[in-house]
Amino acid sequence: MPSLLQYKSPCPASLSSVNLKGAIAEHFERLAYHRISSAFAHNVVYHEAEEAFRQRLDDTFGADCLWQGEFWGKWIISAVLYCEYSGDLELKEFIQQGVRNLIKLQTPDGYLGTYRDPMNVFVRNLAESLKTYGVKSKWNWNIWCRKYTLWGLLEAHRLLGDEAILQAASKLANHLIDSLAEHGISLSSTGTLKGIPSGSILKPMLLLYRATNDSKYLEFAKVIVSEWMNNPETPNLITNALGEKPLTEWHPAPPEWAKAYEMMSCFEGVIELYRITGERSFLESAIGLHSKLKARELNHMFSVGFNDIFYDASSQINGISEACDVIHWMRLCSELFLETGNPVFMDDFELAFYNGFLASVCKDGKWGARGARSHGRHYYVFEQAKMKHNHCCVNNLPRGFINYVQMAVTAHGDEVSVNLYSPFEAELSIGERGTIKLDIDGEYLRNGEATIRWIAEVDEPVNLRMRIPRWATTAELHTAGQSQEKRDGWFEIEVQRGSGAATVRFGRSVVVRHHEPPNSVDPWYPRRWNNWEGEEIEKLFKTDSGNTVVYGPLLLARSTTMNCTEEEMFGPSLPSGVEVVLRSIENSEVLAAFEAEICCGGRTYRTQVCDFASAANFISDKEKVFSIFI
Ligand SMILES: [Zn+2]
Repeated sequence: MPSLLQYKSPCPASLSSVNLKGAIAEHFERLAYHRISSAFAHNVVYHEAEEAFRQRLDDTFGADCLWQGEFWGKWIISAVLYCEYSGDLELKEFIQQGVRNLIKLQTPDGYLGTYRDPMNVFVRNLAESLKTYGVKSKWNWNIWCRKYTLWGLLEAHRLLGDEAILQAASKLANHLIDSLAEHGISLSSTGTLKGIPSGSILKPMLLLYRATNDSKYLEFAKVIVSEWMNNPETPNLITNALGEKPLTEWHPAPPEWAKAYEMMSCFEGVIELYRITGERSFLESAIGLHSKLKARELNHMFSVGFNDIFYDASSQINGISEACDVIHWMRLCSELFLETGNPVFMDDFELAFYNGFLASVCKDGKWGARGARSHGRHYYVFEQAKMKHNHCCVNNLPRGFINYVQMAVTAHGDEVSVNLYSPFEAELSIGERGTIKLDIDGEYLRNGEATIRWIAEVDEPVNLRMRIPRWATTAELHTAGQSQEKRDGWFEIEVQRGSGAATVRFGRSVVVRHHEPPNSVDPWYPRRWNNWEGEEIEKLFKTDSGNTVVYGPLLLARSTTMNCTEEEMFGPSLPSGVEVVLRSIENSEVLAAFEAEICCGGRTYRTQVCDFASAANFISDKEKVFSIFI
């Protein structure tokens, strides 16, 4: 029996001990209200997700089997995390009642799902599907849905400590493992996309192992990863992530299997298996995936993938990113930061959060984008898997904010690290040394500065570290009696019992990125970019070159919100060699606004720009709302 805590990585502060402040906090609270804690969230959104388990319609819609079963788990995971963060006791009671209701729907054999036939785990035979339904079948999400139910139950158990919930989770897992064994089915042969969505059950299976110590779940987890090592039927995720080949060469026809967030979800499980077994190659494979994604899949919005697929997104001038993709890219980066302590992962996390992620959350907190585009308008979907109030990305959005809360400050032995600088308060215990209260303030996104105040009730000194972001051109720290200047890494100060304060100042330069379009564009990209949104959106697919502007952690954009005209946003692109001067201006509609002076070929243009995330975070029937290109 291996030790469950062999690793000694930094720990996030508990959710209840961190409190976001300012504009980011307000945005999160609006989302949490509309999606998690309001009467509408309970009576309409949650009700619809639970009802799917009563109706079990996922395998009754024709050629494709759907994924109504994922929404309950996603909703509960978000609700549990928000409940821990907010301390909302009414929400806790609602979760308890909801889980009790759901468990009543579990059949005596342990099955708890939204498919009428638990063993309907394969994509339908193509020829048969064509004959019967007149279309080729692509989807089967039976085990993927159960992954979210299992995870939701385990999160609820963690919050509520109710043994009946853990038993229901074990029964669900036992039924799955035993029925696959009984029918001689390997997990990688099930479901859609070469078994990748099914395989992502690895993570909750390991959480179940931690909760029960039952080796059955660890053994099953080991079988799952063994199928990612040397199986020609699959993209061999682990072996290939450790190897040299770019992701698009792991297996033929990437659009048929390289589904971005499902794959990153699998690696969350691989990292968990590393924590449990201490087998370093698992961690190295996740690091390998991260570097491959960064090299070839990072899009201009600091997310990864091209509309939910890994297919050389970095080569494209147009960008579209599923919210779930940026959320899981953040999750991958944060897990790797926790395991390695390497701030490079936190740099990637920060850029993803302030850009791709926040752009995906509607400003009013009621809904979110299925795809954040580089220009035009974001892609919203109002009905998914024949459900109207639950959505794959929208149900996931609270986890993005929670991930920020988890990463804002971490503790490791006698060391506390401030990793992120949008305002927050936190109280952390430092082992047996005592506690430290932190209060982070300032206008980090507007001017690159933050003030860190602390009250330390400690018997011995604590090492307080502050991350220097990769984008910083200069970094200064000022505190009583000392100043430091560094280029990268961390500022470190020794904190004694008592109170104190420090200010960090990060210099920024305006980075103008010039993008040339690829020599030839596979017709897959404009189709995928447009995603059946119509001709007008398709016309905006860019085929010429363009420039984008990054300032500190923010990608900038022109937008109707900044009163930019269509001609400004969608007129001819400027050539390379553009210079941009920015001056911060007040605008309460956006996170950061600037007046921009653009100099090119002896001409100077004046315009206003804002952070990309605020440029189009609303639903619009107009196609030409914003652009990151100047
Ligand atoms: Zn999604």
